[in-house]
Amino acid sequence: MTGKVILKTGRDKPVRQRHPWVFSGALDRIDPAIVDGDVVDTVTAQGEFLARGYLNRRSQIAVRVLTWDAGEVIDEGFWARRLGLAISWRVMSDREARRLVNAESDGLPGLVVDRYGEWIVLQALTLGIEKFKPVIVQHLQSILRPRGIYERSDVEVRQKEGLPQTSGVLAGDEPSDRVEINENTCRYLVDVKRGHKTGFYLDQRENRKKIQAYTAGAEVLNLFSFSGGFAVSALKAGAKSVVNVDSSAAAVQLAKENVRLNGFAVNEHDFVEADVFSYLRKLRAEQRTFDVIIADPPKLAQTQSQIERAARAYKDLNLVALQILRPGGYLITFSCSGLISPDLFQKIVFSGAIDAQREAQIVERLSQASDHPVLLSFPEGEYLKGLVCRVS
Ligand code: SAH
Repeated sequence: MTGKVILKTGRDKPVRQRHPWVFSGALDRIDPAIVDGDVVDTVTAQGEFLARGYLNRRSQIAVRVLTWDAGEVIDEGFWARRLGLAISWRVMSDREARRLVNAESDGLPGLVVDRYGEWIVLQALTLGIEKFKPVIVQHLQSILRPRGIYERSDVEVRQKEGLPQTSGVLAGDEPSDRVEINENTCRYLVDVKRGHKTGFYLDQRENRKKIQAYTAGAEVLNLFSFSGGFAVSALKAGAKSVVNVDSSAAAVQLAKENVRLNGFAVNEHDFVEADVFSYLRKLRAEQRTFDVIIADPPKLAQTQSQIERAARAYKDLNLVALQILRPGGYLITFSCSGLISPDLFQKIVFSGAIDAQREAQIVERLSQASDHPVLLSFPEGEYLKGLVCRVS
């Protein structure tokens, strides 16, 4: 018998609308026999079945829903079906990289699965997924037959679930320190064992192609360059030069390797290990200017209380970037803070433009790649937004 959690009266609407999170504040009672991580049925105060998911009392998101179908059992077949469905529509060649499972947005809350050619990287973000990890790994092996499955559950959010951070081989071989992938016409080396996220910013894949429309013949400034994703695609599109700035020495090193791998000369001056905010001021003081500036900062607003501070940082960043853009140049600016809406982000960039005394036109709006889909019932899944602004 599946244990039950009972909602408070009047708290059923989001669950009925297929939002996958049931907050602890919406719960009236939890069967005391249920162990955290177990599958539970969420029912109304009157006992009507609403959804089935896994429970964790420690988290504010007490239940993450797996199904709204009372007849669907969470057995081996369930995981095989959901994984198979998510994987089936991601079309890719053998050497490419894609997100195969995008957690809630693919009906598998708490689970991220990325593919880098013959390697699979998995993130288990919740206790429920942690418990089902062996069966998930088994199905991934039989569906994909990868060379190895590597875990990158070394993420802070696990703390909210009472879980330690962990990483390592889950199945098959251990990937080497550099896994090579193809993307568009570019080649990239990825450090799946230590790189940010699962090694690469897969969410920017389509944008790395889109920026090529603006970078031919251009002198480009690539802020928060990480492993040189945008740098390589800009150079491939015929950029005259790309200056890369990142505060991580390992990222700067890998960016150099990636530029070299694609047949371009590595000019040491173009790889700067520095804090972007202070380096931009240095560039401004030296009266350096650029044709294209790409700014893809890390998530600056992690919580509601950080929104205001983050907004100031985004404004400052875009303000100084606009000041050092040449007339007719392009600012390609991103925010990956889910808490900052596309509308708010546009206003922030606007306020930067006012202070920089620059007029700009939005010529393109950018978002996360299509392998990071957003459920209509779960708008929280949308986080990456970008603007291409032409400055006059
Ligand atoms: N554009 C990249 C992803 C950028 S992720 C891509 O498409 O692959 C954000 C990067 O910003 C990380 O590499 C991180 O090391 C770097 N970073 C974070 N804070 C920084 C700061 N204050 N100054 C410079 N780099 C910073």
